[in-house]
Amino acid sequence: MAAMTRPHASALLNADLHCHSVVSDGTLTPEQLAPRAKANGVELWALTDHDEVGGQHRARQAALAVGLPYLTGTEISVTFASVTVHIVGLGFDPDHPGLLQGLASTRGGRDARALEMAQQLERVGIRGSYDGALKHAGNPALISRTHFARFLVETGVCSDTHDVFRRYLTEGKPGYVPHRWARLGDAVRWIREAGGVAVLAHPARYDHSPTAEYALFSEFKAHGGQAVEVVTGSHSAAEYLTYADMAQEINILASRGSDFHSPNESHTDLGALPLLEGRLTPVWTALDDRIHWPH
Ligand code: AMP
Ligand code: MN
Ligand code: MN
Ligand code: MN
Repeated sequence: MAAMTRPHASALLNADLHCHSVVSDGTLTPEQLAPRAKANGVELWALTDHDEVGGQHRARQAALAVGLPYLTGTEISVTFASVTVHIVGLGFDPDHPGLLQGLASTRGGRDARALEMAQQLERVGIRGSYDGALKHAGNPALISRTHFARFLVETGVCSDTHDVFRRYLTEGKPGYVPHRWARLGDAVRWIREAGGVAVLAHPARYDHSPTAEYALFSEFKAHGGQAVEVVTGSHSAAEYLTYADMAQEINILASRGSDFHSPNESHTDLGALPLLEGRLTPVWTALDDRIHWPH
């Protein structure tokens, strides 16, 4: 295997280590995503559904069937300094009981939150949003704001998902229900104990003060977090640079992923982002023995 694993030490690899399927809030199945990733030139892939690993065996099988190396993945919702933060886990054992229990407890509050969201929307005249959102959820245990967004677009209340999050479901807007997700230290621990690597997802998207951001990175590292997403669908080119510098400065591995959700909604397709800069050490250097190889 040594000869085959060698090229994967390079930053110049079209790795896409962040995307979603119908098992969370994506619109494609794992079986649809794998060939799409392959066709787009992805060379190493991970499906990272929110708070859920129910699609992992399917994704791995679908990837290997099209000759695509695969890493297990998930994206855990965390609350840090009153802000929702996402931690991607890669290369873990998808059947690890501690991880499964942690993810189940993180998902646990979603249904009650969704009912509250629907009550709020009802108060501004939008009826039936709980049932409407649930219809879009491929996994009823994973009802998310994205499913409400699809309902609001479908019923003509909003023109697209961008319009939804501008007018609804975000802080200060109808349909926003504050929620306490997992603790940072717990999320990192679940991933590590299952043999995986924890990655701080899309750091530019958090509404933290500079002090809180510094604390986030420090605590993430102190808990055993090893990587940060540098190139991701929701970062600008300037943000790639900011977090590439940050990764070097604090000596942390770099990750790359589209955060693709849907052909109709995502502006970044699987495998379509710029590669990581050669000066960075990619997260897959720490995951060489966790990659599932096609035969
Ligand atoms: P939830 O986990 O239920 O809070 O839903 C979060 C999901 O909503 C994210 O993973 C995104 O898919 C989506 N989302 C959140 N904010 C936005 C936004 N401003 N624009 C588009 N999608 C968003
Ligand atoms: Mn999402
Ligand atoms: Mn995210
Ligand atoms: Mn995501």
